[in-house]
Amino acid sequence: MASRSNFSSTALDHARNPRNLGALGDSNGHARIAGPCGDTMEFWLQVRADRVHRAGFLTDGCGASTACCSVATTLAVGKPVEEVYVIESEDILTALDGLPEESRHCAVLAASTLRAACEDFLKSGRRQDDRPAAKPGSCARCQADSSSPETPSQHESDKVTAAQHRLEERLCRIKHKILVLSGKGGVGKSTVAANLAVSLARAGKKVGLLDIDVHGPSIPRLLGLTDRHVTGSEDGLQPVRVDDNLSVISVGFLVPGADAPVIWRGPMKHNAIRQFLRDVAWGRLDFLVVDSPPGTGDEPLSVVQLCGAGAEALIVTTPQDLAVADVRRCVSFCRKLSVPVLGILENMSGLTCPECGKKVNLFKAGGGRALAQETQVPFLGEIPLDPQIVTSGDSGAPFAQAEVQTPAGAAFAELVQAMLNERRDSDSSSQKQRRTLV
Ligand code: ADP
Repeated sequence: MASRSNFSSTALDHARNPRNLGALGDSNGHARIAGPCGDTMEFWLQVRADRVHRAGFLTDGCGASTACCSVATTLAVGKPVEEVYVIESEDILTALDGLPEESRHCAVLAASTLRAACEDFLKSGRRQDDRPAAKPGSCARCQADSSSPETPSQHESDKVTAAQHRLEERLCRIKHKILVLSGKGGVGKSTVAANLAVSLARAGKKVGLLDIDVHGPSIPRLLGLTDRHVTGSEDGLQPVRVDDNLSVISVGFLVPGADAPVIWRGPMKHNAIRQFLRDVAWGRLDFLVVDSPPGTGDEPLSVVQLCGAGAEALIVTTPQDLAVADVRRCVSFCRKLSVPVLGILENMSGLTCPECGKKVNLFKAGGGRALAQETQVPFLGEIPLDPQIVTSGDSGAPFAQAEVQTPAGAAFAELVQAMLNERRDSDSSSQKQRRTLV
């Protein structure tokens, strides 16, 4: 546990004199979440005319949890719900003047719980908020539902807890979660995600590929799955099965046609991603590869928040300075959220002329390696420009499906092998550890 002597004076003040401590009996937005660390946070919001009028919290966590809840509720009061919904762990940490590294997860849990309370209001509370205000001393919920004030609140709280358990259960069955990120679009992020998933599956691993690129889901096209759909079953949504080892879920399977735009705001995206993680019957997976949209917006943030401490990032870039600058932002995004960075992969790194064999550095060279050195994250290799990658992507037959014959294929195979070796070591050392514990 972090010593309070490492707290800033603001954090110390919020830990010792928490604001908004206690449950609100007349709330219309509520959530309780148990974090991976075992701490539970519970938030209540009283929203009037779409603005948070009052907020309350309880937590069984340590001083850092109390400080985070206290400051989160302070940030929320007086703001429109839509604004409160997008309060992030970084906002909480900034308002506290930082927290020791080992307590930063408390800010992530506080932001997630606050967001869940907003969702609860947006789903059910708003209807009641539209009704005339309750008479003093009476309860808005009783007026609306003619039931006891405790019953719906308890019921909602149980629903949130059950949903959270389901999410944790699903996530527990996935050994490694790899978030493929890029600073910019068009650098080959989806190509890398698709081929990584295919290669790992070819190596005998059970793999899920989750495409959360809401505004440009390209995985169905890259894997030749544009005519496939997600189906439902008792166990949840059934992903599209490519073969025994590879299952795929993409936003693209859910929209009516390839040309239909997806117009989802932040809360809808978060809900969809949560559903993909919580309600999809992935089964046991060795790897879940997540293809995120470019940048550091809602979608990667949601995955990181929902996966808790379990996700790792693989960052794809092209070599030129413009792309590399964006990747620097990706690295600091991961650092701020305490997501381990597996490394930086430089794609489109030079083109070998098919006529003379000479290498031409169309987008310069070495930017990814230099940035990896500068930011002290591993450099995962260079994948050259290869016209076959374009052809294979367009035809829905990922190049990793075939035997490695091109320099790009070989570079990719090397990346995958290194990843498997590293996992084998870490898996066997954790198995050893488990054996020792037993
Ligand atoms: P992003 O997901 O970053 O937007 P994509 O994976 O959709 O990028 O790739 C954009 C385009 O670049 C696609 O047509 C893809 O086939 C092509 N591409 C990706 N990597 C390479 C490469 N190494 N050589 C040639 N073309 C590539």
